[in-house]
Amino acid sequence: MQVNNVSMNLSAVSAKQYPDDGYPEIALLGRSNVGKSSLINTLINRKSFARTSSTPGKTQTLNFYNIENQLYLVDVPGYGFAKVSKKQREEFGTMIEEYLTTRKVLKGVIILTDGRHVPSDDDVSMYQYVSYYHIPTLIVSTKMDKVKKNQWNKSSSQIMKTMQVNQTDDIQMFSAETKYGKEQVWDWIESKMNE
Ligand code: GDP
Repeated sequence: MQVNNVSMNLSAVSAKQYPDDGYPEIALLGRSNVGKSSLINTLINRKSFARTSSTPGKTQTLNFYNIENQLYLVDVPGYGFAKVSKKQREEFGTMIEEYLTTRKVLKGVIILTDGRHVPSDDDVSMYQYVSYYHIPTLIVSTKMDKVKKNQWNKSSSQIMKTMQVNQTDDIQMFSAETKYGKEQVWDWIESKMNE
């Protein structure tokens, strides 16, 4: 997609605050520091529109980025906050679950996993969760500029195996540094938003 106009329309903590203009939505999920803001910024051709490195502990909201009045990219707060209290974790959990399970215009989810490591237990649980609800998913393996090219196949099969990726879902290697994979991620988003 040719992206010129992006606005951060709103932040929401509960369903009544979600946008009501009916545009399709694609949600992005991943542990903090996995490279979610960097992926969003790459997709929308900005350097620092989405805030990078969200601080654990501060108020977490769903952030809806309006793309060209055609689509919302929804930044879902990072899961796996070590420094956050159990109560806060439960509240994030409820907010995320409410969104993922009730949102009619949600067309797909992008789960980010750090390409330098085996997917974490949190990554696996998150994928199982969205698969259970039959939400089409793209797994994006981030920071691939840090992984030698001859390791990419191994990386990808490790993700397939650890996360038990369904045949209907896809994996995409990505780097915010080199922009590798940007077009493929957009292609996937566009294919889902038109379904
Ligand atoms: P978030 O917490 O998931 O939003 O993660 P950020 O986008 O803020 O990225 C966390 C850290 O990883 C930052 O220091 C980024 O510069 C770095 N990072 C993100 N994407 C990449 C990438 O593709 N390659 C490399 N080398 N570093 C990255």
